[in-house]
Amino acid sequence: MTRLLHRTTRSTPRLAVAARGITIEDSEGRSYIDACGGAAVSCLGHGHPDVLAALHRQADSLAYAHTGFFTTEAAEALGARLVADAPEGIGHAYLVSGGSEAVEAALKLARQYFTERGEPQRRHVIARRQSYHGNTLGALAAGGNEWRRAQFRPLLIETHHIAPCFAYREQHEGESAADYAARAAGELEAKIAELGAENVLAFVAEPVVGATAGAVPPVGDYFKRIREICDRHGVLLILDEVMCGMGRTGTLHACEQEGIAPDLMTVAKGLGGGYQPIGAVLLSQKIYDAIAGGSGFFQHGHTYMGHPMAAAAALAVQEVIARDNLLENVREMGAHLRARLEEVLGDHPKVGDIRGRGLFQGIELVADRATKAPFDPDLKLHARIKAQAMGQGLMCYPMGGTIDGQRGDHVLLAPPFIVTRDDVDEIVARLAKAIDLALAELPS
Ligand code: PMP
Repeated sequence: MTRLLHRTTRSTPRLAVAARGITIEDSEGRSYIDACGGAAVSCLGHGHPDVLAALHRQADSLAYAHTGFFTTEAAEALGARLVADAPEGIGHAYLVSGGSEAVEAALKLARQYFTERGEPQRRHVIARRQSYHGNTLGALAAGGNEWRRAQFRPLLIETHHIAPCFAYREQHEGESAADYAARAAGELEAKIAELGAENVLAFVAEPVVGATAGAVPPVGDYFKRIREICDRHGVLLILDEVMCGMGRTGTLHACEQEGIAPDLMTVAKGLGGGYQPIGAVLLSQKIYDAIAGGSGFFQHGHTYMGHPMAAAAALAVQEVIARDNLLENVREMGAHLRARLEEVLGDHPKVGDIRGRGLFQGIELVADRATKAPFDPDLKLHARIKAQAMGQGLMCYPMGGTIDGQRGDHVLLAPPFIVTRDDVDEIVARLAKAIDLALAELPS
């Protein structure tokens, strides 16, 4: 009898006992291709010897020092590396233990920036529907996933949500990409006007939407417009790259492909590749300067922030990615993955959309391709696909997202950056089989 409260009380998960490269093994000797990196975490695969060696070295010299007393070489080196590789204007990094913590810290940095500048009335956070920013209360409030938020709503800070940029679901028939991008971004302008620009703190968005919608990339110049709107109204732009960042889409940061830089950016998952829990907020020099020139103290902090073991792991993960030129593999294998998905599933009667960037690809299942009608949520198709995929020895990340009250079923693929062509072919073959087996379970 398990003494842990797992994600579900209905069953105990399989016991994972070992992992190497792109596979995880359970206690019954079955192995699974990790085609989703857990939740887009394991970017380097499992058991990488260079990361393990770095962890051993760090543990031998210093496992922990509280940041109220010390900084450490590992944390300083990681901070320097993150800033050196960051988008323009980013001057500093703040190290935390995961994605939700990073989002919380980013929201508080945004707020403190304005209080330091004498604009304490700026309090409204705007985000998008069909988004996920974490499960702590501030991050949950920012996110637009109603299924996750509903029962906690009385505890959430007030936030405002606009439509996501989601071409498959929201671009009108005959509407050009440019017109759609302008319309979707225009929602931000309208919301800022409604709230009064002088009261708005920040706009938060994932450049490529992950956990709620299955790798939804933006359209056209959507983010350039968003950047302009934020600048025009003095609103801070927070990009949440916890899932889509750190190389996952083929560039180190997803926003590079949009040609914009944020005021604050959150990264996590791929930063430490799962070897240690770690996340970071990258903050622009102007935010740092406002705090440094004001109270000189960011009113925040966690016991495990800047943890040297986590920093050492992340540093090693990022060094291997750069040394082995793995972002090139993300681009090449990402293109191959997309091509294979299109070949094998593109004409499937229940596959409505295949989308994504790099090794971050989503497949949306629909009951009817012509009308894009989703499956009845009670059928839990995404959960059936996950179970069938596990039966095929494949881990893929399933979701039943929220589309303006409707639910949709998606599968997210986010394999490690070390995948080969053969791995990709095997992943797609197993996924296609799992989808058909899951569909065969549905009442006709
Ligand atoms: N932001 C985004 C975009 C995410 O995808 C996630 C996790 N799925 C989070 C924040 C929260 O990260 P964590 O689970 O590490 O707290």
